[in-house]
Amino acid sequence: MARTPLDKIRNIGITAHIDAGKTTTTERILYYTGKSHRIGEVHDGNTTTDYMEQERERGITITSAAVTAVWKDYRINVIDTPGHIDFNIEVNRSLRVLDGAVFIIEGVAGVQPQSETNWRLADRYNVPRIIFINKLDRTGADFYRAAATLTEKLGINWVTLQLPIGIEDTFVGVVDLVEMKAIIWKGDELGAKYEDAPIPADLADKAAEYRQKLVDTVVGIDNAAMEEYFDKGDVSVETLKRCIKLGTISGEFRPVLCGTAFKNKGVQPLLDAVVDYLPSPIDIPGIKVAPEEGQDETADRRNIPADENAPFAGLAFKIINDKYGNLTFVRVYRGVLRQGDMVMNTTKGQRERIGRMFQMHADKREEIKEVSAGDIAAFVGLKDTGTGDTLADQADPVVLERMAFPVPVIDIS
Ligand code: GDP
Repeated sequence: MARTPLDKIRNIGITAHIDAGKTTTTERILYYTGKSHRIGEVHDGNTTTDYMEQERERGITITSAAVTAVWKDYRINVIDTPGHIDFNIEVNRSLRVLDGAVFIIEGVAGVQPQSETNWRLADRYNVPRIIFINKLDRTGADFYRAAATLTEKLGINWVTLQLPIGIEDTFVGVVDLVEMKAIIWKGDELGAKYEDAPIPADLADKAAEYRQKLVDTVVGIDNAAMEEYFDKGDVSVETLKRCIKLGTISGEFRPVLCGTAFKNKGVQPLLDAVVDYLPSPIDIPGIKVAPEEGQDETADRRNIPADENAPFAGLAFKIINDKYGNLTFVRVYRGVLRQGDMVMNTTKGQRERIGRMFQMHADKREEIKEVSAGDIAAFVGLKDTGTGDTLADQADPVVLERMAFPVPVIDIS
């Protein structure tokens, strides 16, 4: 596989209250990104991101595997973050290595207690987030009420990028407030066609009102956009998108999208939003090095920016023991590493030889010869590397900020 330019990589997590639809949305993402040849429904117990038997039985996702998907020549690595309250350590661990997240809430209940917990955890790591209000097909779904819970429960500044067209049984699509058009799905089934359409007449006023709110909020953070707005009375789609991305990365506001993953409406525009608004590894400062002895977490420390041409540095964030043996998932922050290379485990002060490396897809794994900055890959046969350890080139043997809690190896063989 050719090396993906850094600006075309997105390392994201999908996080949600249990039952809000994280698994279903992830499945659709994998389907629409063409990497999943079959689709698993949660009730069939054959979903592709669920590794553990126990998980299959309960229909929830505990482990955080990373899956690579491709959308419009962007590489999206989806790091599976668990939603259940008991697995906060797992959530924590995943948040450390992702650059952005899709936060799913459900269209009937809105923000639920576990969403609040996960939101606060993501705050701790300054993870840029977009919000997807799911299940708009359900009886009792109300986009506006669900969105209001973002203020009530999370106290956040959010801005809606879409309005629903219809609701419950009549939900057919969304108004895209950035491009001021409707997007309509032609059916409920997986792979249902969708197309652009004029905004329905009965939504015209509401669309204009929400478009204005969007413009007011997002241009307020950028002087050039503000000037454009004063000069022309409006801003271009390009300016709007640039400002939404700026505000999403800085956390100034959180963009809100909507749909129904189960009825296959809204997931493709959500993928567009992931590439348009969530950061690539070079849009953000990079991971910090670990505190030196005597320093605490708050000490000012060096950042390791994403750079393919600098000495290698990566963080092992997950070990899975599957039928092929131990797979160590590594997030690469800097440099390039090839099969056969020697590398330092700088956390332990030991050398490791790099064996086979794989990119994990929804239903297969692909052997790769090298990994480079921004990538996530699974390494086979690392001997002494545990979760939270840094692998780095001798030329600059940094130790990256690690996850400060004990983590068990999960055995799923
Ligand atoms: P998770 O616990 O967040 O991973 O949620 P799941 O994806 O497992 O979904 C929980 C339940 O809600 C399953 O029975 C799904 O089929 C159902 N579900 C997910 N998304 C939707 C949706 O958009 N509409 C409806 N009606 N049901 C959904």
